[in-house]
Amino acid sequence: MHNSTHRLATRAIHAGEPEPRIMGSVTVPIFQSAMFETAGGEGYHDIRYIRLNNTPNHQALHAKLAAMEGAEAGLVAASGMAAITSALLAVLSTGDHLLIQDSLYGGTHDFVTHDLPDFGISYDFIDADDAGSWKGKLKPTTRAIYVEAMSNPLLQVTDLKAAAAFAKENGLVSLIDNTFASPVNFRPAEWGFDLSLHSCTKYLNGHSDIVAGAAIGRKDLVEKVRHKLNHLGGSLDPHACFLLDRGIKTLVVRMKHHNESALTVARFLEGHAAVARVNYPGLDSHPRRRRVEELFDGFSGMLSFEAKGGLKAAERFIERVTIPIKAPSLGGVESLVTQPARTSHSGMNPEDRKLLGISDSLIRVSVGLEATEDLIEDFEQALK
Ligand SMILES: *Cc1c(COP(=O)(O)O)cnc(C)c1O
Repeated sequence: MHNSTHRLATRAIHAGEPEPRIMGSVTVPIFQSAMFETAGGEGYHDIRYIRLNNTPNHQALHAKLAAMEGAEAGLVAASGMAAITSALLAVLSTGDHLLIQDSLYGGTHDFVTHDLPDFGISYDFIDADDAGSWKGKLKPTTRAIYVEAMSNPLLQVTDLKAAAAFAKENGLVSLIDNTFASPVNFRPAEWGFDLSLHSCTKYLNGHSDIVAGAAIGRKDLVEKVRHKLNHLGGSLDPHACFLLDRGIKTLVVRMKHHNESALTVARFLEGHAAVARVNYPGLDSHPRRRRVEELFDGFSGMLSFEAKGGLKAAERFIERVTIPIKAPSLGGVESLVTQPARTSHSGMNPEDRKLLGISDSLIRVSVGLEATEDLIEDFEQALK
């Protein structure tokens, strides 16, 4: 049984679970049925059908996701990008204008710059760290402001509080990609955001075995996003719903370890002679340390650092390190390492990368759930 006074760890396990339990089943069974008997719903979106995101597996997840961020409503989607694109298209129409943070997840950046203009939707990039500069970019047609909880791969934390307040003052919808923080470390609804978006592929599922997304927030907006998602067809399969539900049940204990382990690894790296700098929101050296402490309950498992000795040194580290897997993505039980100059940002020319602060020797780490001591011993030998 769940009630709204329960703490996050209890909600993660019990919120959204059907009452009474289905045939006494302790977990929500997988409803592998494309359609359901007609039960008197009025409109198209009430037809019980997997694509319309309303099977028992979807409904259980929707309630759980909402409870995780203390929000009015939740919606699960086939991927993080399905959630992000459906949310933007639900909030914006032809002729509308969007203010959006300049350092963005690559898929979002491409959608905004390549696809939104085809719908007649314009945008301006904003320096999300400089709230004073936003007013000058506001137009009569501006409808929304979009930010990310932490930037990739430098873990910059923009003025999130100001973004939600700016939206309220100017009648805009505020959207945030909360993937890097997870609901454990940051709950956007509590800070006045209208919509929080997730790639559940990352921390929410946490086991690197499905792709999924979520939109969480104001009930009227989540319903609009659901209708858009219903039309676009990006619904999550019931079996993946089951896996995501299972993953979320352990989110709070997993995040606790990610938070603690990454902080220990970040401090180790910061004290190492072969490391030039470490980017991690939990370090005293983080440029927005006060803001980070005010906003977040933990600092996630994501960090990046620059090895002394440029590209060669970074390549040597990645070659020598044995526990982390060299793979993109993040937020799973296994630690992962990437070299942004060679992967996510390889399409950019070196000068543009430098402007963004992404040096050739930058290494991004998703700290997993392995023993922290083993990771540190492994990093130590790789940096020798
Ligand atoms: C991975 C990611 C996405 C995209 O999610 P998918 O599940 O791959 O579609 C969006 N935003 C951020 C911050 C991400 O890390």
